[in-house]
Amino acid sequence: MTFPTTLDGLYINGQWSAGREHLRVINPATEALLTTVIGGDERAVAQAVSAATEAFKSWSQTTGAERGAILRNIANGVRNGREHLMTLQSSNNGKPLFEAAIDVDDVIATFEYYAELAEGLDAQQDSNVPLPSDDFSARLRREPCGVVGLIVPWNFPMVTTAWKLAPALAAGCCVVLKPSEVTPLPELELAAIMAESGLPNGVFNLVCGTGLAVGAPLSADPRLAKISFTGSNAVGVQVMQRAAETVKGVSLELGGKSSLLVLADADIDLAVELACGGAFFNAGQMCSATSRVLVAEALEEQFLIRLQKRAQAIRVADPFDPEVEMGALVNQAQYQRVLGHIDRGLSAGAKLLCGGHRPEHLPRGYFLQPTVFTDVPLDSALWCEEIFGPVLCVRSFSSETEAIALANDSQFGLVASVVTRDVETADCVANALQAGLVWLNAPQVIFPQAAWGGYKQSSIGRELGPWGLAAFQEIKHVIRAV
Ligand code: NAD
Repeated sequence: MTFPTTLDGLYINGQWSAGREHLRVINPATEALLTTVIGGDERAVAQAVSAATEAFKSWSQTTGAERGAILRNIANGVRNGREHLMTLQSSNNGKPLFEAAIDVDDVIATFEYYAELAEGLDAQQDSNVPLPSDDFSARLRREPCGVVGLIVPWNFPMVTTAWKLAPALAAGCCVVLKPSEVTPLPELELAAIMAESGLPNGVFNLVCGTGLAVGAPLSADPRLAKISFTGSNAVGVQVMQRAAETVKGVSLELGGKSSLLVLADADIDLAVELACGGAFFNAGQMCSATSRVLVAEALEEQFLIRLQKRAQAIRVADPFDPEVEMGALVNQAQYQRVLGHIDRGLSAGAKLLCGGHRPEHLPRGYFLQPTVFTDVPLDSALWCEEIFGPVLCVRSFSSETEAIALANDSQFGLVASVVTRDVETADCVANALQAGLVWLNAPQVIFPQAAWGGYKQSSIGRELGPWGLAAFQEIKHVIRAV
């Protein structure tokens, strides 16, 4: 696929333009320059927020049915552009084409789900609130919270965007979106689809750029009602600090260090498949990555034999290779970060079961073998920190109590998985885990109807489901003397 040499990185008030900042967009599988996106700065952010503020006056007054119809247009636009969007995801992010297809289908499902919720809003508007008094009556209104800033990372471009954008528009909010400077191409195409969807000018604005040039002024702009951020904990803290100065609402989706618990009665082959899927999908660059496997002592030996065999058989290849199972990491910086974690893990005394190196058949691109460690010290960075690469740590346990304690021993609490043949035990363990989502004998499937977000330092708030919509609404009670 060929790209124009440069692309305009600003879509403000229904117009495309170029900013001043040149963002080099790389294909991680070849290290070649794909194109240069000309992004914005503080001035562009201010213009975008002004456009959104003006548009909010009328967009906030539209009916849910009107907004739902536009969300359905966006879903259809994404469906019509599915192949192209998949190609952009794989070219810009390095993920296999079959994974890009899952991403694009998730985006369609998310816009359709929030179209349905938007259409249902009109009947719920001004609902009565029962009061313990005959002297007063009360009604409840749900109103859009205002102009919102959305800041997203590079690991699931478009998906993290859709999880914020669809509910924000459904609620009646106007939006300024800042995609990752590493992967702006899918969002630029999504913006082109939005431009054709019937959205009034200024309701949706896009400002490409770096975190410092665009993300920081966006988080600080006093006219925003809310910032919804997905990314690292370090940046999430900065966003929250800036938002605090004008008491803006914040939703944060941050890091994870998630466990898969393989109980003594587990189907070992299923456990191996789930461990590999959780650890190596998207080359492990997932906040929900399975980074720890806790396996019952009785199964450990067999589990490790089969896990090593499966991990070494995973075909690491170009994202467009029809046989590919795992693609490239997103860029040089992330590649070096993951290699650094592997080196530090070895220095800390962890034992490398397999992987840890560039595959021999791929001399270029940010490719890494699926990597598995055992004997990982509990106080090492490898065990405690988010790696965000295809690296899995395995440890055995002697009791379910110990397994739950090991899984919960983390600053994060995003997701967890359990493999067991005993349905009752599965539910008990799920209830004891400090995680926002627990999969039982299941791969990491996500549905827009079910909430996304975690405990502890993984999140503030929840995305998806009705909670994702409520995050963009204010609640107003009107109490009247009868
Ligand atoms: P990042 O924090 O470096 O960047 C995220 C976004 O913030 C980017 O758009 C970036 O430009 C912007 N940004 C950077 N500095 C900023 C600043 N000072 N002010 C405002 N914005 C700024 O994260 P990343 O490397 O792009 O993504 C990886 C991280 O995202 C991982 O930690 C991962 O766990 C997290 N993540 C979490 C979820 C979730 O749902 N919990 C989902 C995906 C990714």
